[in-house]
Amino acid sequence: MHKRSRPSLRSLSIRTRLTFSHLAVIIVAMGLSGLLLLSLLEGYFLRAMEDSLVAQARLTAQALIPGAGIEGTSEVEANAAYNTLQQQAVSNLSLQTQNLAEPSGGFPLGGLSLATLADATFQLSSQLDTRIRVVDVQGIVLVDSQRESQGDNLSADPLVAQALAGQDASAVATSGGAQEIHVAAPVLFDGKLTGIVYLSQSLRDVHAVMRDLRLRWLLATVIALALSGVAGLLLSGAISRPLRRLTAAAGAVAEGELDHQVPVRSGDELGRLAQAFNEMTARLRAARQMQVDFIANVSHELRTPLTAIKGLVETLRDGAVDDTEVRDRFLGAMEGETDRLIRLVNDLLILSRADSQALALRLEAVDLGRLAGTAVERLAPLAAERDITLRVKVHPDPPLALADPDRMEQVLLNLLDNAVKFSPSGSEVAVEVDGYQGEAVQVKIRDQGIGIAAETLPRIGERFFRADRARSRAEGGSGLGLAIARALVEAHGGRLSVESEEGVGTVVFFTVPLA
Ligand code: ADP
Repeated sequence: MHKRSRPSLRSLSIRTRLTFSHLAVIIVAMGLSGLLLLSLLEGYFLRAMEDSLVAQARLTAQALIPGAGIEGTSEVEANAAYNTLQQQAVSNLSLQTQNLAEPSGGFPLGGLSLATLADATFQLSSQLDTRIRVVDVQGIVLVDSQRESQGDNLSADPLVAQALAGQDASAVATSGGAQEIHVAAPVLFDGKLTGIVYLSQSLRDVHAVMRDLRLRWLLATVIALALSGVAGLLLSGAISRPLRRLTAAAGAVAEGELDHQVPVRSGDELGRLAQAFNEMTARLRAARQMQVDFIANVSHELRTPLTAIKGLVETLRDGAVDDTEVRDRFLGAMEGETDRLIRLVNDLLILSRADSQALALRLEAVDLGRLAGTAVERLAPLAAERDITLRVKVHPDPPLALADPDRMEQVLLNLLDNAVKFSPSGSEVAVEVDGYQGEAVQVKIRDQGIGIAAETLPRIGERFFRADRARSRAEGGSGLGLAIARALVEAHGGRLSVESEEGVGTVVFFTVPLA
């Protein structure tokens, strides 16, 4: 089966997605709020109209049949939709009908003649713009202001039935495509039901208002969409521009342009990202520089003994080989240089293994006090040669460390060797194995030597770094001893630090986890 590739949302640019989501939010918000508000308004208008019609029904009943009333009048009077203009018109008409009234019996509604009633109804209807029908208790239309249903029997109409049962009734109905609201109100005369006033009014005006409102809402939505579209574009531009710059910069860095920097223009997440990117490239540059320096240093360190060996070999070949005394001296020197080369290569191998975490430590419970004693013994000849006293101070109850004893011994030898090399004769070098230091054992190598200047202290422990290159070389150092000690301690999960004061002495601390 072939998988059809669909343009997924994720492949769109952030700018497009942000702008579209902005617009979608506006559409949903405006649509929902419009729907809710407009339907609420429409309901409110209808209710207001219904109440107004009930009020009209009551007034109409009073106007047409003096002395008549309808149910629930007080409620109607209190209605806010009750229109004073309408009231005015109705009371005028009421006077007119009263003037017209012929007090002759036999007519169904309050003794009014049908002609008078009809006349008054027509006038009232034209003034109120409402269709008025007066219905008798049988449901027969006595008067219809539109003259259409005069004489019809409306008793089947649910509104009429409800009004005949003595209750106001109202409903919205569609007739001939137009919506109308109908209200039927029972007319009481002397407390007795004498008929119904049935009012109908078109909802044309309400619909017109609603249409107008909808149009305005639509216009507001369009304006909101335009504004939020612009805002979305600006905002997304502000986000995507720095991201595009970062992408371009990352591409350049991947191509090897490590000095590529991006401007940090804000303190927000994007600004911090740009800053992190710049820091990353700075570190990459430093790492590359370190690599270049390292290779240069290695080459240099290798070249010196190799050049010496080559010089010695040439001299021997040129005839010195015949002089046994010179030959032995030269061979001794060659052996020394070769040892130096072997040491250097071994040191580099250890560092390389430490870097790739391939040191393969054989961890066991180690008594660092005893190990310090062994290291001191091994360095005793060198110390004696320089008249330096070596001392070991061990905590009365030293904890066992979890370490590779061979590697730990190398750490101690490297540090003790430095302490002895950089101390004047007659001074003292001490190894102190402390008690518990949290989760680790702490060892200090303290000397009273030349110390390290504060400005070079931060660089101590860098590969091939030597405060005094000439002195270090003369002592047989290559500037890797401390770096190796640190790498080995860290491979054990410990820490190594140096405190020193020039002319006073140096203390190298390191920790090893407890067994
Ligand atoms: P090396 O001893 O071969 O020169 P190291 O890595 O052991 O290399 O030490 C680096 C440098 O740190 C030394 O050249 C020296 O300048 C300084 N240093 C190390 N230990 C001491 C010490 N105990 N006292 C003074 N300087 C020291």
